[in-house]
Amino acid sequence: MFVGHYAAAFAGRAASVAVPLWVLFFGVQFVDFLWAGFILTGIEEARVVDGFVEASNLDLHHMPYTHSLVGSLFWSVIFAAGYVLIARPQNWKLAALLTGGAVFSHWLTDLIVHVPDLPLVYGEPKVGFGLWRSLLWSQALEVTILLAGTIWFVRRTVPNGIVGRLSPWLLLGVLLVMQLVSHLPAEELPSIQAFAVQALIAFTVPVLIAALVDATRAAKP
Ligand SMILES: [Zn+2]
Repeated sequence: MFVGHYAAAFAGRAASVAVPLWVLFFGVQFVDFLWAGFILTGIEEARVVDGFVEASNLDLHHMPYTHSLVGSLFWSVIFAAGYVLIARPQNWKLAALLTGGAVFSHWLTDLIVHVPDLPLVYGEPKVGFGLWRSLLWSQALEVTILLAGTIWFVRRTVPNGIVGRLSPWLLLGVLLVMQLVSHLPAEELPSIQAFAVQALIAFTVPVLIAALVDATRAAKP
């Protein structure tokens, strides 16, 4: 899953102003940031296989550290603790819940689309409901939850000016374009290393635009 993960970030920010949107945007992809780094350093392994499943060209056969249930819980705690220590939020328990929940939401939403490649601990058994086997239904799900999250966020916040009126829709538009581009048929598929580098860029851009949204919208009084 790619842009569907951001639904949880929008929802977290709509539910509470305790944590900025950009931090939640970072959080929901935190294990995929790590995954890209672990692929580049050889700690985890994957292969690009044309048509592996209808909606993904990735054979994600070894990613126990970032995408196991236990690993995800570990990174959720690390991220939440890191945020609380660095940002020192007033309501640290709520902030920890939101940031940790954002990180862990990644595993739960990946679970829906991945084929059984998500370990519970390390190696077998691996789980995944496999919605990626259908391009149509996996994309319908991702776009629907992203739209729902965006709309909830927009309703719970108010713009500080014209930029604030447009910024959430700019963010949504960029996400939808990136999702579309990532599923266009390619002449030549990238190596897994090139894919990891592209992924790092694709995960960083939304964080930056989310910071613009933070700066241009405020919580509803
Ligand atoms: Zn993932």
